[in-house]
Amino acid sequence: MRLSRMLVPTSRETPAEAELVSHQLMLRAGLIRRLGSGLYTWMPMGLRVLARIEAIVREEMDRAGAQEVLMPSVHPAELWQQSGRWDAMGPELLRIKDRHKRDFCYGPTHEEVVTQLVKQDVRSWKQLPLNLYQIQTKFRDEIRPRFGLMRAREFVMKDAYSFHVDGDDLAREYANMRAAYQRIFERLGVDYRVVQADTGAIGGTASEEFHVLASAGEDALAVSDGSDYAANVEAAACGAPGPRPDAAAECAEVATPGKATCEDVAELLGIPLETTIKLLVVEGADGGLVALALRGDHELNDVKAEKHPNIAAPLKLAERTRIAEVFGCEAGYLGVRGCPIPVIADHAAAALADFVCGANRVDYHLTGVNWGRDAAEPAVADLRNIVEGDPSPDGRGCIRLLRGIEVGHIFQLGDKYARAMELSVLDAEGASITPVMGCYGIGVSRIAAAVVEQCHDEQGIRWPQSIAPFELLICPIGMDRSDAVREAAESLYAAADAAGIRVLLDDRGLRPGVMFADSELVGIPHRVVIGDKALADNAFEYRRRTEADAERIAADNATVLARVRAG
Ligand code: ATP
Ligand code: MG
Repeated sequence: MRLSRMLVPTSRETPAEAELVSHQLMLRAGLIRRLGSGLYTWMPMGLRVLARIEAIVREEMDRAGAQEVLMPSVHPAELWQQSGRWDAMGPELLRIKDRHKRDFCYGPTHEEVVTQLVKQDVRSWKQLPLNLYQIQTKFRDEIRPRFGLMRAREFVMKDAYSFHVDGDDLAREYANMRAAYQRIFERLGVDYRVVQADTGAIGGTASEEFHVLASAGEDALAVSDGSDYAANVEAAACGAPGPRPDAAAECAEVATPGKATCEDVAELLGIPLETTIKLLVVEGADGGLVALALRGDHELNDVKAEKHPNIAAPLKLAERTRIAEVFGCEAGYLGVRGCPIPVIADHAAAALADFVCGANRVDYHLTGVNWGRDAAEPAVADLRNIVEGDPSPDGRGCIRLLRGIEVGHIFQLGDKYARAMELSVLDAEGASITPVMGCYGIGVSRIAAAVVEQCHDEQGIRWPQSIAPFELLICPIGMDRSDAVREAAESLYAAADAAGIRVLLDDRGLRPGVMFADSELVGIPHRVVIGDKALADNAFEYRRRTEADAERIAADNATVLARVRAG
């Protein structure tokens, strides 16, 4: 490809609307353009990256025995009503009407559609197992679209769905998909981790996420330094610490005017934050209120909380006015002594003795509080986020926290959709059985952004060669003035193209400074600069995007091609 013929609108300015480096660089390198909130056009250079990612995903899915299909992106409402998700999905589901005023939605995922498909054409156990996948555009009306392609509203996903006669066969296919995903992420050339994930409301038996490690990632990951334990913080269990010490202090009320947080109270009293307890009031499953007691230095884990049978799902914090009514005191000074509603304490809070908490009186706290003596023994549950330094849930090593970008999710679904959509097949004995399903997603467009987030420097993107828009960039200096330069550049361009290398020739005739700045920004892995001076010594200047310095190599096409092939 000749750069003069490509629309690559690069820019030196950092776009104000972009927070993340990946978003800034993708805009600056002319890979994407914004149409509206969460809506992006793939420009020619960006689309080449997307196509590379798709090709790797497709190859590995095919190799793993899955079959590609392409399902519609607009779905009749009836399918979603049948699964119950027409109501359950909420506003993330984009609902539309056709000219006959019939309801449709734009597909955010395809469990309903694929189950319907299998229902139409699969009758016998002999047709199973079956794994169908597609690479297709999804729409989710995300509450906060941001970071460009990272959390877009319209995005490209690879979604696969497998069908099995029993759970053993599903477990086999799940392992097969897990291995395929590992091959995919290795070929993409990114640093990634597989972590245990929350199985959500569906409550399947196994679920894991694939994360590209990056400090800007939206997800916190808990990994052990003493074993291969790794889990999304959402799903990382926190066990009970040692037994609670005996009460030693008297319970006393202290004035804490204006100190409505545990941090402020700990500072005022000169005590460690770990000896304080905060109360969070949420709606209960029965419509009443429930108080959650957490240690002052711990954070509530929403996912764990909403799984508790006595807590409403989705989790909803109680309104301030309702708290004031029930406690006769405003939030910030709530405590467990005389608490008017049921208390559920996190394990760590339940293990405290002589702690500090609110006095249920504005501007006052209590010190030396003890469960069982000053307040009723609470119900106990795992409610908090795991933190750095906690023992690993598998009992080996300590937890370290990393940030990740979720790029894949594999899931054993069980029979939820098959049952809801009334899918059944005949088994070997001629009896009707409900198949079990797995589903396996990859955020194809998110991967492009995640890779940039992980692979860049001050000057721009550093594409891994496997998904780079081009492998080799030729930068001739003064091509219009020098026959020698033009001939060498054209000859290398033709040779690389003939050898099947993805090659780009910068024939725009711009100043070397501009040409080099663009080359760094766009991040093509191998660059050859051809100029009169070096050519006089029979040399090219060659540089790998990941290396600081250029080196002189023989002005010989085969030498360049060998470098590119070596990666
Ligand atoms: P998240 O927690 O990031 O919202 P999710 O759990 O909703 O993800 P899945 O339903 O498992 O995501 O979708 C499969 C994959 O699609 C995800 O692993 C992710 O890589 C990608 N994905 C999900 N939502 C978006 C989005 N808004 N923009 C880009 N990619 C997305
Ligand atoms: Mg989501």
